Amino acid sequence: VWVYRYAVVTGANKGIGLETVRQLASQGITVVLTARDEKRGTEATRKLHQFGLSNVVFHQLDVLDSLSIQSLAKFIQDTFGRLDILVNNAGTSGAEADEKDIEALNIDPADWQLSGKARNLVQGIITHTYEQGEACINTNYYGVKRVTESFLPLLQLSPTGARIVNVSSCRGELKRIPIQHIRNELQDIKTLSEEGIDATLKKFLHDLKDNALEANEWTMMLPSYSISKASLNAYTRILAKKYPNMLINCVHPGFVNTDLTLHNGILTVEEGAKGSVMLALLPDTGP
Ligand code: NDP
Repeated sequence: VWVYRYAVVTGANKGIGLETVRQLASQGITVVLTARDEKRGTEATRKLHQFGLSNVVFHQLDVLDSLSIQSLAKFIQDTFGRLDILVNNAGTSGAEADEKDIEALNIDPADWQLSGKARNLVQGIITHTYEQGEACINTNYYGVKRVTESFLPLLQLSPTGARIVNVSSCRGELKRIPIQHIRNELQDIKTLSEEGIDATLKKFLHDLKDNALEANEWTMMLPSYSISKASLNAYTRILAKKYPNMLINCVHPGFVNTDLTLHNGILTVEEGAKGSVMLALLPDTGP
């Protein structure tokens, strides 16, 4: 039986998010394309309408702003009465680098993700301030939490059992976090708690503010990004355990050619959005 489905994608004015909207809408799903910037969001929506995807609707959403989240929840409640798919895609790297400096490094794209040499080179040109780190954790972790919590009542009304997709990153893999007790904490689903994650993030931000990351072994590449996504993975497991009637997963999109990677990524957005779309459309027997 075909059931009509309603989806929300966050951070969808460009990159993987925009492409996720396009692919979901192409399958007949009504998709709310959201963006924090009204102008960028309406422009992206207009482009999809031009391609005949009239089932894309724009609504403003800044995942850092509770009022904005509430306003979208009310819009969905009033317009659709429920939500079937939530793709938490909005994210930020928490670091900055000059594109010219990156080009000058001349790193083979295949080396970007894994090689220690590439990592050291990149680390040398990245700037990583406390404000950037804090914004990164607030967006990638607390943003997802805020949006998800506000939409859970609407997601509970999905007749098919809702799908939640948290766009994470391989940077959040626990093996990349050098501190063993943090790894253990984020790994053990029996003792994992939102309070525990909060405490870890608080400690990290404290060390970042004190300029004490190195001293306290937070020596991963893109430290704020890494810990934000590791926390997101842990939170996803907590949610999946708490709501067994929904299919709640995270995905690493691959290394994708977007603004976030300063266009160094090796995959197209079409390829990068595949995982999100697959998890958004999982059959009832899915993980
Ligand atoms: P982009 O920079 O192209 O897109 C990021 C999107 O998030 C933009 O639409 C941006 O909006 C939005 N955003 C940022 N902050 C907020 C906010 N506070 N509220 C709402 N929207 C916000 O990056 P990608 O498409 O590459 O990234 C999408 C997701 O994929 C992210 O979660 C990222 O961490 C993840 N990812 C990407 C990888 C890659 O290789 N590209 C690899 C691994 C994971 P605005 O335009 O207004 O800034």
